[in-house]
Amino acid sequence: LSDRLSGILDSLTRRGALSDADVTAALREVRRALIEADVSLDVVRSFTDKVKNRAVGHEVVKSVTPGQMVVKIVHDQLVEMLGAEGEPIDLNAPAPVAIMMVGLQGSGKTTTSGKIALRLTKRDKRKVLMASLDTRRPAAQEQLKVLGEQTGIDTLPIIAGQSPTQIAKRAESAARLGGYDVVILDTAGRTHIDEPLMVEMAEIKAIANPHEILLVADSLTGQDAVNLAKSFDERVGITGLVLTRMDGDGRGGAALSMRAVTGKPVKLIGTGEKADALEEFHPARIADRILGMGDIVSLVEKASEAIDAEQAAKMAKKFKKGEFDLDDLSEQLQQMEKLGGMSGMLGMLPGIGKMKKQLEAANLDDSVIKRQRAIISSMTKKERRAPKLLNASRKKRIAAGSGTEVQDVNKLLKMHRQMADMMKAMGKKKGGMMGALGGM
Ligand code: GDP
Ligand code: MG
Repeated sequence: LSDRLSGILDSLTRRGALSDADVTAALREVRRALIEADVSLDVVRSFTDKVKNRAVGHEVVKSVTPGQMVVKIVHDQLVEMLGAEGEPIDLNAPAPVAIMMVGLQGSGKTTTSGKIALRLTKRDKRKVLMASLDTRRPAAQEQLKVLGEQTGIDTLPIIAGQSPTQIAKRAESAARLGGYDVVILDTAGRTHIDEPLMVEMAEIKAIANPHEILLVADSLTGQDAVNLAKSFDERVGITGLVLTRMDGDGRGGAALSMRAVTGKPVKLIGTGEKADALEEFHPARIADRILGMGDIVSLVEKASEAIDAEQAAKMAKKFKKGEFDLDDLSEQLQQMEKLGGMSGMLGMLPGIGKMKKQLEAANLDDSVIKRQRAIISSMTKKERRAPKLLNASRKKRIAAGSGTEVQDVNKLLKMHRQMADMMKAMGKKKGGMMGALGGM
C-alpha cells in the first residue's frame, strides 16, 4: 500500500495551499487504507468528508508533497476522533462498584474480566470480586472460577440453576457483605446480536446498577462494528469500549467505527491471552495502525520541525542584529495563530511576564491577530521594512486597505516598537530566549 501511495503522492509536488484536487486524490488512497483496516463504510465516508473540509486550503510544509500533507492531516484528525488517551475505569461511586462486561460470544469478556480484576487488585489495591452471569455456555462459570484461582482473585461461588439476574443480586450482596470495592459482572454473549441478549443485558443492568458497562469487542470486527456498538449502546447503554486481540493482525478499524457511532471512549486494549496482557489506549498508535502510513506521518512531522528550526535560526540572527521589521512581526503573529493564540504561545515562554501583561492589555486574541496581520499585509514592502515611513496619509491608506481604523494601525506600530526594543535587548544577552521565541 505504501508504495502505491507514495507513487501517487510523489506526483504532486506543487507548493502552497492544498487544492481541492490534491485533497481528493490523496483521500482516495486514505479511504482505501481505512477500508482495508476494517473501518465501517459509513464512518469512512463521514470521516473523509470532515477531513476534506479541514484540509483544503491548508498550507503545505516545505519538502513534503501535498499528498503527504493530507495524510498527516488525516492522521491528526484520526487521533482526535479516537479520543482521549488512557481514560481510566471510573470507580467513583459507593462500594461495591459494579463493572458490567458485555459483548458477543468469544469477544473476550471473561478473559478481560480477569485482566481488569488483576489490574485493579495489583495496581490500584482494590478488593475485587468476580461473578459469572453466563448461564448459557456450559462451563462458562467454571472458566471464570479457574481464572480467579490462577490469579488469586475471588469469584462468587457457583450455585447451579440460578438465572443471570439472581446471580447479579447475589453478587451485589456478597460484595457488600464481603467488603469488596469492586464487583465485576461477566455476562453471556451470543454469536450475533439478538433480542434475547439485549433483554437479558437490560435486566442485569436494572438489577446491578453498574457504574461502568464495558463493551468488549474483537479488534478484528469489521463492518459489524457499527451495528454492534450502536445496539449495545442504545439498548443497554455503554460507558466505554475494550478492544481485544490487538496482538493479532487486525488493524483496529473497529476502534474508530465504534467510537464514531457511540462517542464512548476506548478505555483499554487486550494484547494477548495472558492475565496481564491489558494496556492503556494510545490513540496515536492506533491511528498509525489504522492508517498504515506511519512513515509518511513522521516524515511530515520531521519536515515541520526542520522548518521551525530554520525559521528560528533566521529570526535569532535578525534579533541579534537588532532587526525586527513588520514582516517579522507578521510571521510571528502567524506562528502565534498556529499555536492557538497568545495564551498558548505565552504559556510556552518562560519569564515573559511583562510582555504578557502588555499584550493582554492590547487584548491580543485570535481575531485581533488576524486584524494585525491584515494591517501589515496592506503595507508596501518598503513600509514593512521601514515602519518610520508611515506618516498620517500612509496610515490612512493602510487602515482603509485593511478595513481598520488609523488608531488600530497606531496600536500595531506601538506594539511592534515595544517588541523590537525587547528583542534588541534580549538579542544582546545571547542565546536562550531567542531560540525559544524564534521557535514560536
Ligand atoms: P467471551 O466469550 O467473550 O467470554 O470470550 P473469552 O474471554 O472466553 O475469550 C475467547 C478467546 O479469546 C480465549 O481463547 C481467549 O484467550 C482469547 N482472547 C481474549 N482476549 C484476547 C486478546 O487480547 N488477545 C488474544 N490473542 N486472545 C484473546
Ligand atoms: Mg465468557
